[in-house]
Amino acid sequence: MYDIVIIGGGAAGMSAALYAGRSGMKTLVIESLAVGGQMNQTYEIANYPGVLNNPDGTSLAMSMKEQALEYDAEFTSETVKEIKDIHEKIKKVVTRKNVYETKAVIFATGANPRKLGADGEEKFHGMGVSYCATCDGAFFKGQETAVVGGGNTAFEDALYLSRFCKKVYLIHRREGFRAEATMVNAVKNNDKIEFILNSTVEKIKGDTTVSSIEIKNTITGAISELSVSGLFVAVGRDANSGLAGKYLRLDKEGFIITDRYMQTSVKGVYAAGDVRDTPLRQVITAASDGAIAATSAIHYING
Ligand code: NAP
Repeated sequence: MYDIVIIGGGAAGMSAALYAGRSGMKTLVIESLAVGGQMNQTYEIANYPGVLNNPDGTSLAMSMKEQALEYDAEFTSETVKEIKDIHEKIKKVVTRKNVYETKAVIFATGANPRKLGADGEEKFHGMGVSYCATCDGAFFKGQETAVVGGGNTAFEDALYLSRFCKKVYLIHRREGFRAEATMVNAVKNNDKIEFILNSTVEKIKGDTTVSSIEIKNTITGAISELSVSGLFVAVGRDANSGLAGKYLRLDKEGFIITDRYMQTSVKGVYAAGDVRDTPLRQVITAASDGAIAATSAIHYING
């Protein structure tokens, strides 16, 4: 029997594990992929207070895991299929191989890159269309690529790709950006990156791999073609809330609704990090959510 089972081993899950472990709670983190979550797709973390020299996301994730292990949190690599008796005092977290009994559950399942919805996107996924510049960027050394989006991810991706691509186009559907000013300035000062604004990607073309994209000007409606061999989609994230949605209240965009204690619509069940309805999705906010969720779960368990 566990005190707290945490579903998801990203920044939120590992922070929750650290806080739960330090409080003497018997804690299990269930992660279906590698621990670290979206941190594993970040080539440098420049805004986590106290962490200098911009480590890559995986290194920071490994340190978080080490810290949680020091306080006896357990980790397992499995996929959760369902939660039985979620309204009971003892809940059962079911994977393909195991049933874990627990007093509290924390959903820290994160978010996934959103699809663009362009013609050819599915066909060329992995053949020139990518959702992770840090994972796939190196395949495009010396080539021309494009990034779609106007948020921090798109700007970070464009800067990363400019290190080894011949040219990077940053395509955004309007003129204003969501990205932070420092990143916008860095892109503006980068000779290898060219903005294509007020534009949407309508079609992705090629034979077996991407060779060009069709772009529509949102003001004039004019269609043009741009030769690129890679298209990096960075248009936001969708909550990884398929499992949670069976049991918990979600907002209209699919994020888990919590109160400020990270309490969900079900007693003894908490949510933390990118999967919950929150105004900011960063490593630091995920870690903060995890700490609050674990503390709330501990109070709940201790009555
Ligand atoms: P985001 O901030 O939600 O930005 C998504 C961008 O994609 C927006 O500019 C949006 O345009 C555009 N977009 C959405 N749907 C589109 C579509 N169908 N076609 C074309 N464009 C579309 O997403 P994000 O950049 O992935 O960032 C997610 C969160 O992670 C944010 O909170 C961000 O701050 C955080 N993050 C932080 C860092 C960092 O601090 N270093 C790095 C990466 C991400 P509109 O603006 O017109 O809506």
